Formats: sequence, structure tokens, C-alpha cells
Amino acid sequence: MAVTDDIRACRLCADRFAATHTGHRPSPVVWFDTGAPIVVASQAPGMRAHLSGKPFDDPSGVRLRDWMGLDEAAFWNTDNVAIVPMGFCFPGYDAKGSDIAPPRICAKTWREAALAHVGSPRITLLIGGYAQDWHLGRGRVTDRVRDWKALAPDVFCLPHPSWRNTAWLKRHPWFEAEVLPALRAAISTALRTTATR
Ligand code: SF4
Repeated sequence: MAVTDDIRACRLCADRFAATHTGHRPSPVVWFDTGAPIVVASQAPGMRAHLSGKPFDDPSGVRLRDWMGLDEAAFWNTDNVAIVPMGFCFPGYDAKGSDIAPPRICAKTWREAALAHVGSPRITLLIGGYAQDWHLGRGRVTDRVRDWKALAPDVFCLPHPSWRNTAWLKRHPWFEAEVLPALRAAISTALRTTATR
């Protein structure tokens, strides 16, 4: 059985999710395939993605697609984009309505096999602190995003595209002015060269 089927069948966090304020069941959102030139290493599905079964099926996804310069058809095409989050299931909300962190056991159990299944992408987007810490070791998101030239064009560190980061985007105008044009150019090149292979 492929790792994608194994993850879809995973229920390791059933007790943990039942104890959250949302009291939901595991529902892994698996959206990757072998050979995609772009990996989106993200955090975890939100409530809307949990309900629809489609990653970034929410306002964060609208913003992320704009950052990447991709329309919905290109973004949700697993031949183009592999979405490999730190947690494959919606982690739930706490009593205050805040997002709970992706369960560590998910990356521990599945991450290496999932990334190996994708293969060797041309670009990896590390979105938010959880993915950046896992791939690069501990550090600050803002420092990493600001230092984008150190890893580009193979790797781009990005803030989470959530509305919660709108103030961050306003405080750091260089992100839109410098990082996004470079990111869009790298993605366009990766898709073009992959299509002509
Ligand atoms: S979050 Fe990951 S480890 Fe937990 S049930 Fe979902 S797929 Fe399994």
C-alpha cells in the first residue's frame, strides 16, 4: 500500500482530537503525488479544509495562491504542487477558539515517507514556524523570511498566509516588494521546465 493510503487510514490522534474543544475525528487531508516540482510544507488543515477534504480551501489559500502566482486549477493539481503539512489532520480549536498546534506524532510518523514519496522537488515552500523548525532547526520566522536569498530559489521560507498575519505583512513591506516577485518567478520557471521535460 502506498504511503498516501496509509496516511488516509491513519487514526493515531483519535483520542487527542476527541478531547479538543471541537471534539472531531481524524480526517487526513492527503494531497500529494510523486514528481510534483513544488512542495508546500505547511502547518495543518484548517476547519474548512477538514470539512471539504481539500487543503487551503479557505482565505489562507486565496492569499497563498496569490503569493505563488497560481490559479486554483494549477494549485490543486498534484502534478504541480504537493501539499505536505506538519499535521495531515485538522488539529482542532482550544476553548478560546485558537488553533491547536499540529500533533508532533504526525511528522514523526509520516513526514519522511511522504516527502520521499514526492521525490526531489525543484522548490520547497516552508510555511510558518512548525515546518521551518522541522526542516531547518529552530529559528525565527521573520529572520528566515527576510534572509530569503540564502536558500532561494530552491527553498522559500514564508509566513503563514492566515489573516492573523495581515499586520505582519503590513509591517514588512519588503516581503511583497522583494520576496513575492522572486517566488513567483521561481515557481513559473519550475512549472515551465517540468512541463517541457
Ligand atoms: S494528524 Fe497525522 S498522525 Fe494524527 S491522525 Fe491525522 S494523519 Fe494520523
